[in-house]
Amino acid sequence: VAERLVVIGGDAGGMGAASQARRLRADLDIVALERGGRTSWSACGIPYLVGGEVDHLDDLVVRSPEVFRERLDIDVRLHQEATALDLDRREVEVRDHGVGRTLRLGFDQLVLGTGARPRRPDLPGAERDCVFGVQTLDDAEALLAHARDSGHSQVVVVGGGYIGLEMAEAFTHRGAHVVVIERQPEVMGTLDPDMGALVSDAMRRNGIDVRCGTATLGFDEGVVRTEAGDVPADLVVLGLGVVPNSELAGDAGIALGAGGAVAVDDRQKTSVEGVWAAGDCCESAHLVSGVKVHVPLGTVANKQARVAGTNIAGGNARFPGVVGTAAVKLCATEVARTGLSEREAERAGIDHAAARIDGTTRAGYLPEAPSLTVKVVAERKSGRLLGAQIVGGSGSAKRIDVVATALHAGMTAGQVSWLDLAYAPPFSPTWDPVLIAARKAAEQAAQAGPGR
Ligand SMILES: Cc1cc2nc3c(=O)[nH]c(=O)nc-3n(C[C@H](O)[C@H](O)[C@H](O)COP(=O)(O)OP(=O)(O)OC[C@H]3O[C@@H](n4cnc5c(N)ncnc54)[C@H](O)[C@@H]3O)c2cc1C
Repeated sequence: VAERLVVIGGDAGGMGAASQARRLRADLDIVALERGGRTSWSACGIPYLVGGEVDHLDDLVVRSPEVFRERLDIDVRLHQEATALDLDRREVEVRDHGVGRTLRLGFDQLVLGTGARPRRPDLPGAERDCVFGVQTLDDAEALLAHARDSGHSQVVVVGGGYIGLEMAEAFTHRGAHVVVIERQPEVMGTLDPDMGALVSDAMRRNGIDVRCGTATLGFDEGVVRTEAGDVPADLVVLGLGVVPNSELAGDAGIALGAGGAVAVDDRQKTSVEGVWAAGDCCESAHLVSGVKVHVPLGTVANKQARVAGTNIAGGNARFPGVVGTAAVKLCATEVARTGLSEREAERAGIDHAAARIDGTTRAGYLPEAPSLTVKVVAERKSGRLLGAQIVGGSGSAKRIDVVATALHAGMTAGQVSWLDLAYAPPFSPTWDPVLIAARKAAEQAAQAGPGR
């Protein structure tokens, strides 16, 4: 009998691991369970579907179940939900929603690719039909159907995380009046508040009513209740981040780690032999802080899946970890971050300094050179680069990749300030803003600071 790999979850984490295992081992019997009706889609494209830049939901499907079945010989089973794991017998209990029965499926190796789900606040009315989280294409389908039925002239986004803000922009493209309610002083909690403020301002300039420092109290017929009064709402979108779908693993006794995500080593192995995890359901190692973190991003999911699939096939791949790099475009403003923010450095107990500069993404004498703000954080005394944040016009966001690369290389801010980066007037000023911010951060870090 062929060795059987069972994969739970039909998106990046699960199917990435299944595909890689198949590429390396033709003899494996691979079964993939997905409780929804689709495989391998780009959730990242959902805001563009809602905003009308992508025409059809199915345009976001990267690989259909048929392709997995026919080209990769992976037995994809849709509408089948793993409901329990029996690790002693090496069996998964599966609820087949199609025919309404429960069966057991044996495995030799198992991949957990169960992903994450939007965080729902523990507030009255949070389960109402008009309150949507967005994670899967099925969610997007339900949201769009409700938007069409309700007329969606008033949309409220609760939480100023990047998904909430992308959805806020998408609904303005559909002609809705959009209000964002954020409890913290600024949106985008992955940035420091001074950089988050630039994002709030950019959203406001585009007609989005961003209300920071306002707590949501609950949801009622046609309104979101906040501590600053009721806000009319035909439709509510949650933008409070995600929580890992790790209950299946936790209930079976598999160790959980950072943020309640499945604990894994650098080979993506869980605490149980032959059981692997990849994607939003599991943790990653942070290369700057040295601690485990939950970074639910597609770029991370794909890499972890490749590592898990390689190891399942008998290889020895390792996922080095993350530095927390992310980018998002909101209206015409590009936002990017990597490494540790000042707030994160503080939490990690790292004595740090920071510098913030304003510049342009092209030579200032060119017409309409977009402006940008770069903030670089460095460790005091050693000058070690800790992270950066960038908010600005066209050409801003991907500059973060230089800083991310420098973080992987363990460089100091001073070393970054001398990097030989490409220059021509259409691409940057002679001194790229990243180099200038790094130099200033290095200078700050060298000065005697408040100390610890
Ligand atoms: C709107 C939006 C925008 C995004 N933008 C970006 C971006 O710009 N850049 C970026 O890097 N990332 C982005 N992401 C994040 C990225 O989409 C996720 O990191 C990625 O989808 C994670 O893949 P995954 O396979 O781990 O989890 P998921 O995509 O959550 O898939 C998990 C799958 O497992 C299934 N499942 C769960 N439990 C079970 C079970 N018990 N039995 C059977 N099936 C089960 C689920 O139905 C789901 O299909 C975005 C996400 C969203 C929602």
